[in-house]
Amino acid sequence: MHEFSICQGLVKAILSELEKLNPPNPKLQKASVVIGRLRQIIPETLQFAYEILTKETAIAGSTIEIISAPILAKCLKCGWESEIKEHNFRCHKCGSGEIELSGGMELYLNNLTVEKESEILR
Ligand SMILES: [Zn+2]
Repeated sequence: MHEFSICQGLVKAILSELEKLNPPNPKLQKASVVIGRLRQIIPETLQFAYEILTKETAIAGSTIEIISAPILAKCLKCGWESEIKEHNFRCHKCGSGEIELSGGMELYLNNLTVEKESEILR
């Protein structure tokens, strides 16, 4: 289950991003992350890992949204370009195996949704 180690890195990155905000460490509602399909992450497992890993932290109770990035391939022979499915790294036009991948390995924080502090009426 490599989701746990990937999630550990994400949680660390989220906490450090929240610290940089002004005012620092607002309450996190949702973290949105982009993960390429080549990383073969099972969203449910990552969600489960996130829940466990954030339990004892300041971001407990927040949710993680996974945006899956497609695998983009370009044929070096005929110039064909498209999104491909896993385990079929061939040009769909000329059948060449000489393709260049330009997507699918993404792994980064896309957006953090934080709770706006409600105004206190005096
Ligand atoms: Zn081709």
